[in-house]
Amino acid sequence: LFNKDFGQHILKNPLVVTGIIDKANIRSSDTVLEIGPGTGNLTIKLLEKAGKLIAYEVDSRLADELVKRVSKTMYKSKLHLVLGDAIKNPLPAFDVCVANMPYQISSPFVFKILKHRPLFRCAVLMFQREFALRLVAKPGEEHYCRLSVNAQLLSNIEHVMKVSKNNFRPPPKVESSVVRIVPHRPAPDVDLSEFDGLLRIAFERKNRTLAAAFKKKGVVALLLQNFKQLGGEPPEDFKQFIVDVLTESDYASKRPQQLAVADFLRLLKAFNDAGIHFR
Ligand code: SAM
Repeated sequence: LFNKDFGQHILKNPLVVTGIIDKANIRSSDTVLEIGPGTGNLTIKLLEKAGKLIAYEVDSRLADELVKRVSKTMYKSKLHLVLGDAIKNPLPAFDVCVANMPYQISSPFVFKILKHRPLFRCAVLMFQREFALRLVAKPGEEHYCRLSVNAQLLSNIEHVMKVSKNNFRPPPKVESSVVRIVPHRPAPDVDLSEFDGLLRIAFERKNRTLAAAFKKKGVVALLLQNFKQLGGEPPEDFKQFIVDVLTESDYASKRPQQLAVADFLRLLKAFNDAGIHFR
């Protein structure tokens, strides 16, 4: 009945549906974005609250079914259904996003909306439990990782409820959680790909010191190449030059697991001030 390639697991518990929608604080003037409406269990409730609902669905069979279901309600004119992939297609301006979407697109979708302009007010999204725990993890916690830092650079994220497998049909293999994402306003003035470039190096091994991570041959070679490409005349001992930046900023003996977003921003600035870039 349901298509595995599209990650179709229908949310069948009305209490979970209501719980998710309550967390979104939807106003009657809001444009709401929904990804993967499926058979419409969230959609119908969203239409009751929203001024307008824009929903992206890739499966034309489910899209047809949804249109039929909604046409029997008084909310027909509020629904704008887009038949297409939410990752590959441009998104409209929206105030609130609510979705139980396939877990394969979790990470690209989070960053797609966080980079989207104008900024939305909040997003309430269902994810695989593990992914949700990584999004909300704080420095020193088990799930804290590159994803946590990239996401928390751009937003506040809170875990709002656990949802067990048996609330879906068919049940997925993994447990789920709902999170609430509120973008930071204004958005931080940072080159995101450069910030992530630094994190990739720092988090390659969670428990290694930054000095050890940055002294790796491949890393030194990459940073040297970037330095030259930007027109700099590199110091003779480039590895030492990198370590000096870490030592002077007091991060050489720190491990990525302990550092907060503000630390990574400070470190990126110290590198950039020395002409070292991560593009
Ligand atoms: N939201 C419904 C619910 O909670 O009952 C269905 C959830 S099901 C986990 C995911 C839905 O997303 C399916 O309807 C699937 O066809 C759709 N979908 C999968 N990939 C998509 C994509 N890239 N863009 C938009 N919709 C997608």
